Amino acid sequence: MQFSDIVGQDAVQQLLLRAVQTNHLAHALLFDGPTGSANLALALALAQYVNCEDKQATDSCGRCASCVKMQKLVHPDLHLVFPVANLAKGKTSEAYLTDFRKFLLEQPYRTLPDWLETIGADNKQGNISAEEARSILQKLSLKAYEGPYKIMLIWLPELMNVSSANALLKVLEEPPAKTLFLLVTNQADKLLITILSRTQRVGVPAFTDDAIATHLRQHLNLDETTARRIAYLADGNLAEALRLRTQEGTDDEHAWFAEWMRDCYRQDLAKLVKQADQFDGFSKEKQKGLFDYSIRLCRDLFLWQQGAGALLRLPDDEMAFVKNFARVLTTAHVERIVADLNQATYHIERNARAKMVMLDLSLTFTRLIK
Ligand SMILES: [Zn+2]
Repeated sequence: MQFSDIVGQDAVQQLLLRAVQTNHLAHALLFDGPTGSANLALALALAQYVNCEDKQATDSCGRCASCVKMQKLVHPDLHLVFPVANLAKGKTSEAYLTDFRKFLLEQPYRTLPDWLETIGADNKQGNISAEEARSILQKLSLKAYEGPYKIMLIWLPELMNVSSANALLKVLEEPPAKTLFLLVTNQADKLLITILSRTQRVGVPAFTDDAIATHLRQHLNLDETTARRIAYLADGNLAEALRLRTQEGTDDEHAWFAEWMRDCYRQDLAKLVKQADQFDGFSKEKQKGLFDYSIRLCRDLFLWQQGAGALLRLPDDEMAFVKNFARVLTTAHVERIVADLNQATYHIERNARAKMVMLDLSLTFTRLIK
């Protein structure tokens, strides 16, 4: 992973580069960012940079022997610790190391549910166990094999149990020489205060819509409109954006919602029944996705009506729709629509017949808009 692979995180990158170049890198860093942020990607890019044999001013070289191994996550001085589930006694996450490498190499913007699903443990809790702690200590007692630094990257340290966290604390208090701890968290408030106080926090902000759209264009070759639409839906979470990308028909939520509202406005019952039939044929995920989208657009409509239009980050089509419908609907109507959509989502999750849910909503909205 190189810094140049990560979009829109210039400030954090500058901070890390300066720390390395001026010899002020703390021995333990806490990459603290929300789910779907660049916290893990930045930690991997830093790990590659500190051991690069031909460091450039703004990035690792990407070609030296160390970089080549780091890029495949097989560098002998890079130790990865991560939550697992279903482990037989006495085993550590090492048993899943090959799977974990593959998981990160696909793309580094990953989530815990994503990982648990990959290892077939999606309805279990992941955690970092006491055996893991012993393994950490053992690995760190070894000298660096090749690079200047031994690196211990811990993904989601908030999932350590008490004995594991205490073992980590002990090594953080008396760190072995030339060892760099990179803790990557989504929930820093769940870490022991004593761990927080022994790490230097690197705050990683959520991605901007622009950064997400750029990533989607550069890495997945999406066109501008589709990239913008997904960025809007993902709300700063790149993992979510990448998940949406693999879902069916992510680019037509707006067309679907706009048509629905227009048919309600015109009280076109024949078309509303047809749309309910079509909705019934979608997968449950898609049905919920359409309602999620509708709720977000209604919230933006509400903000527009409150005079907070400057806060909106809408693509052009959506903006035109919001301006038009703000004239037709009162604030009370919008609140009612959002409440009904939330309830409809709840019913869909509990296996209500989608066609009936959709028709019921259509009739309510038709009466409201009248
Ligand atoms: Zn290099």
